[in-house]
Amino acid sequence: MNMKERLLKALKGEEVDKVPVCTVTQSGIVELMDKTGASWPEAHSDAKMMADLAYASYAECGLEGVRAPYCLTVLAEAMGCTINMGTKNRQPSVTDHPYPKGVDDLAMPEDLLSQGRIPVVMEALGILREKCGDEVPVIAGMEGPVTLASDLASVKKFMKWSIKKPEDFQTILDFACDACIEYANAMLAAGADVISVPDPVASPDLMAPDVFDKILKPVLQRFADGVNGPMILHVCGDVTAIIEMMADCHFESISIEEKVKDLKGAKAKVGDKCTICGNVSSPFVLLAGDEAAVKAAAKQALDDGIDVLAPGCGIAPDTPVANLKAMVEARDDYYA
Ligand SMILES: [Zn+2]
Repeated sequence: MNMKERLLKALKGEEVDKVPVCTVTQSGIVELMDKTGASWPEAHSDAKMMADLAYASYAECGLEGVRAPYCLTVLAEAMGCTINMGTKNRQPSVTDHPYPKGVDDLAMPEDLLSQGRIPVVMEALGILREKCGDEVPVIAGMEGPVTLASDLASVKKFMKWSIKKPEDFQTILDFACDACIEYANAMLAAGADVISVPDPVASPDLMAPDVFDKILKPVLQRFADGVNGPMILHVCGDVTAIIEMMADCHFESISIEEKVKDLKGAKAKVGDKCTICGNVSSPFVLLAGDEAAVKAAAKQALDDGIDVLAPGCGIAPDTPVANLKAMVEARDDYYA
């Protein structure tokens, strides 16, 4: 069983020889930027650099997959948001929004897939597919429809509409969802095996579980149903209150943080509706811990029945290579 077969089977909950270990969330780190010469912010806009940095997490750290791009702003930019491209160790962010005034003039860009950095991402996925052959899985990351909708409207207006203008709230979510479906399918066609979708604005930290259940879940279901490949849904924070709803969103797998304290309980709650990726703490263990701490957290996740061993959230750019290697070693030790 090669790495690609292993990950694809594990995401679907099929039997594997060992739990795969990779990152399904942000993967770029400074140590690998220095090693490859592919640094942020340039690597967000240059296909070869984007691919080189992603490939290094497999070649240098032993992670069983490659993942690109490194931000949640590609689709937002293509649809009219203004982006600050960040620095070598700070991710791009949205600084201005096309639709703060309302949904009356929503307009999908003509030829969406040729806008902004989308062609760069497609080229990078093609390069990665070529380099990885059929052995190593290529994971494409993108913002989810909830986060995209909030970027288009501004978080402040998005929150306001969720309470005071439910029709506008639904309209912008549907608009964002349409774009997400088109973009995700194009990334699969360009070479991705899996689409990994962080949707941080859907977190219970920002959206009430009741809103998730009644409004966001149907949008996420339509997104997953519209995409022709395996999907992972990542929601930040302690998602204990919405984990069964996440499992009902029709994604093959969900990615959770260590803030969900009871992984065993989470596994029991989702049952066979989806698998779970995670949940080694990105800030507290992979960034701030030592190799022993990484190995202990990884072993705990494996003991608790994690389906894909991975960082709980996007890894911080200053995370050491040694800690990512330790996560891989922990998985190997587990089966030794
Ligand atoms: Zn997260």
